Amino acid sequence: MSATSTLTQPLPSDRKLREVPHWVNGQTLPGKSGRFGDVFNPATGEVQARVALATAVEVDAAVAAAATAFPAWSAQPALRRARVLFRFREIFERRLDEVAAILTSEHGKVFSDAKGEATRGLEVVEFATGIPQLLKGEFTEQVGSDIDSWSMRQPLGVVAGITPFNFPAMVPMWMFPIALACGNTFVLKPSERDPSASLLLAEMLKEAGLPDGVFNVVHGDKVAVDALLAHPTIQAVSFVGSTPIAEYVYREGTKHGKRVQALGGAKNHMIVMPDADLDQAADALVGAAYGSAGERCMAISVAVTVGSATADTLVGKIEKRIQNLQMGDGMKEGAELGPLVTKAHLDRVTSYVQHGESEGAQLVVDGRKHALTDEPSKNGFFLGACLFDHVKPEMKIYREEIFGPVLGIVRANNFEAALQLINEHEYGNGTSIFTRDGDTARDFAHRVQAGMVGVNVPIPVPMAFHSFGGWKRSLFGDHSVHGPEGVRFYTRLKTVTSRWPTGIRKGVDTSMPTLG
Ligand code: NAD
Repeated sequence: MSATSTLTQPLPSDRKLREVPHWVNGQTLPGKSGRFGDVFNPATGEVQARVALATAVEVDAAVAAAATAFPAWSAQPALRRARVLFRFREIFERRLDEVAAILTSEHGKVFSDAKGEATRGLEVVEFATGIPQLLKGEFTEQVGSDIDSWSMRQPLGVVAGITPFNFPAMVPMWMFPIALACGNTFVLKPSERDPSASLLLAEMLKEAGLPDGVFNVVHGDKVAVDALLAHPTIQAVSFVGSTPIAEYVYREGTKHGKRVQALGGAKNHMIVMPDADLDQAADALVGAAYGSAGERCMAISVAVTVGSATADTLVGKIEKRIQNLQMGDGMKEGAELGPLVTKAHLDRVTSYVQHGESEGAQLVVDGRKHALTDEPSKNGFFLGACLFDHVKPEMKIYREEIFGPVLGIVRANNFEAALQLINEHEYGNGTSIFTRDGDTARDFAHRVQAGMVGVNVPIPVPMAFHSFGGWKRSLFGDHSVHGPEGVRFYTRLKTVTSRWPTGIRKGVDTSMPTLG
């Protein structure tokens, strides 16, 4: 296998556009539907490839390959499955820059951020290599006379992952390393907006020795998703994306008898208390609001300041920091703020900025006027960092997820009012507080209605060995992803009670067995 994937290389300009194929049974499968989606380079605005959009026929092929591979893969000792992941880890680490370059080229995030994404994904692989330990069951000797009992966790079968555009490597890696380690086989339906990273993952898994059919990729849109949700062979679906689709996937998937975890959108608040270190809070806010151009489900999009003096000082500090942000092509040295993923998304985010102005919020920094650091990017999908002050809870820019580089300041009079805002919001993904007061911090962590909480940490994304997931309309289903919750999601529990012949008493007894 060459160090640079041929699957992800653009063709010379005199040849036709690169096509992103499916990956079924250990090899590429060209799209047969005749339907394709454009894959842009968001930094230049150019279409750089087209991705095949699957029909139910291609979904069937991927599911059939996964079903055929399941008996042998699930019968492998867990340690042998872990060894494939150990090898995958080595290959991935060696090719990390290549993965990151693909992420930057199709998503737009800056290269250092793309490397961070890939590294966070790799941490889940590292967690999953511990699967022999994670799958150890429980054993009780002598639950009754001469009777022993033990429990074990077994794989589900063929499982599917449906993932969003904003983490084309990390979010699939929240899912498949643990699913495969547990003995399942996998069908991934990545975002059609940045599909190429998934093929590189497939190639590297093959190089690591993963048997054909254990990991498959079908590209597509609603057609492919619906085929997966209705497919009788698929036992479980992991979904990450926007709330309306998460709710749909949860409803449809469970209707078809599948286990579903569906992670949705977010509106993450950060409370800034008057006693906080405001320089630290401003640094944290700029990173958390504008990193990855705000296209992170754990981005902070609302800062709730307690007291007007806190707000006035903080707004000044953020404004100053925004002026120094370098916006440009993510592959260029020093770029800190890349483009949005598509023109359609840029238009959507820009319309929120217009809406915020007409709703009466004060636009302190207008990112539409932010200068680019490099001229060749002028057709890219860029929007500079936007800062609104005096945002009110009834405004659309407060209620809805914008998913762009737009931060709103909501001014609250006290901690109780700030906490109430968070608890009454529809979303409950992540949240954070900046304070020097332990009492307030503890009270916040205890009472706030959100799945992931930071204290003086702006983006409290749990590490791979903990689990990731929100509350309220940020997650549909009972399981978060990765960590112990991931192992539970991708396995089912079996409990065995056994008695060996030497201990079996003769004679029929129809009464309920009890310890006596
Ligand atoms: P999206 O919901 O548009 O797409 C997610 C997936 O669903 C994609 O694979 C897409 O092809 C598919 N899809 C889109 N429309 C569909 C439809 N009508 N029917 C069936 N399937 C459909 O999300 P996105 O724009 O790719 O990603 C951004 C969203 O994801 C944001 O809302 C963000 O908050 C959320 N997100 C959440 C988390 C989390 O952990 N909670 C993490 C990352 C992203």
